[in-house]
Amino acid sequence: MSEQKVVPFKTNAGVSHALTERLLQKGRDYGLTAIFPFGIEKIVVAEWVHLKCRYGCSRYNTNWCCPPATPNPDKVRAILSEYATALLLVGSKSCADFYLDNGHKRIAQVRCWKGTILLERMLFLRGYYKAFSLVGECCALCKTCAYPEDCRFPQEKRPSVESFSIDVIGTLKNLGTTTTVSTQTCEAFSYYGLESRGELLTVILDKIYQE
Ligand code: SF4
Repeated sequence: MSEQKVVPFKTNAGVSHALTERLLQKGRDYGLTAIFPFGIEKIVVAEWVHLKCRYGCSRYNTNWCCPPATPNPDKVRAILSEYATALLLVGSKSCADFYLDNGHKRIAQVRCWKGTILLERMLFLRGYYKAFSLVGECCALCKTCAYPEDCRFPQEKRPSVESFSIDVIGTLKNLGTTTTVSTQTCEAFSYYGLESRGELLTVILDKIYQE
């Protein structure tokens, strides 16, 4: 099979500094503090991530943005091969309720989710027509997901980063960021997201890893 060629819509130059700044300006409303571009090849896809979704996660088979409704690792690798560049979004927030399943946590999740999709749309409207978001955790737009019935907000439905079998810590290490997992609910934490550019993939990794 011949190697698939990535065909950029604009140029290989990707997102300009000015556009990155504009994205960040908007992203600040949603808690972002920085955006960094990087090559898609730095994203680590691992079978064990899928295993963790399948065994041990209460969300498995309960949400449109989690497995088995999302692509398997092989499909994910094929999807990523169609992209060249992503943007790492960095934010920080304090959410003592992160490990709890309550309204406070859900408000924070929905805020991140909507911010991610908003940036994806900004990129799309500027010609980055392949821009696509992967968001952190599972979709919390509804208190209880309609799965397996029809999604109530299909235009905002996106797969989660984990559901794409992306090894978040491995990817961050590839990007030269040292992280540890927060172990206490009272800890402040940093979170990371990836936003695509050029022939883009938009990936959000808003996770609870403490620097
Ligand atoms: S928008 Fe609602 S129904 Fe659709 S995936 Fe999210 S939680 Fe589920």
